Amino acid sequence: MIKNAMHNISYGLFVLTTNLYKDNGCIINTAIQVTSDPDKICFAVNKENLTNVMVTESKEFNISIISQDADFELFKRFGFQSGRSSNKFADFEDFGRASNGIAYITKGTNSYISGRIISAQDMGTHTLFTAEVTESAVLSDVPSATYSYYHSSIKPQPQKVGTAPSGKTIWRCTVCGYEYEGDELPEDFVCPLCKHPASDFEKIIR
Ligand code: FE
Repeated sequence: MIKNAMHNISYGLFVLTTNLYKDNGCIINTAIQVTSDPDKICFAVNKENLTNVMVTESKEFNISIISQDADFELFKRFGFQSGRSSNKFADFEDFGRASNGIAYITKGTNSYISGRIISAQDMGTHTLFTAEVTESAVLSDVPSATYSYYHSSIKPQPQKVGTAPSGKTIWRCTVCGYEYEGDELPEDFVCPLCKHPASDFEKIIR
């Protein structure tokens, strides 16, 4: 991966949740407060995410702010599967309900913010939503996790452990830790967990 200035922008990490005909949510890394009188926030969501479609229609959402004590499991549950093919809240108990009736995440988060959409701007791949804050609460004093903190301390770390007797080559996704076995990683390979491309994989020889 070629490092450029865009990679040095700091980002937080959040679980954006909503409810229309069911609970759903996804991980986002762009959410900012834009005004404080009254409180308004902006956030961007990929248009391919079902959560985007649901927020567009329901106009109501919660943003749970992910903290440094979050498990990788939280990212797998809300980031590496689609709400179209799975129920992300199945067998999940780490959530409460805000006054708007929408779930917020109670484990690995330090706050949640409820909001109502004021406007939505089509940005091509993403929608940029602006919203008024309708409710908020602090859940813990654990510092918020940044995107770089996620990479350094939450996701599984690559380990170069030499050559194994099998001589197998492992290609590991630097975003989520998924491992592909094979001498060569196909150029058009897409991570089945987090959907990142082959360029986000690194070669590990065991
Ligand atoms: Fe991945």
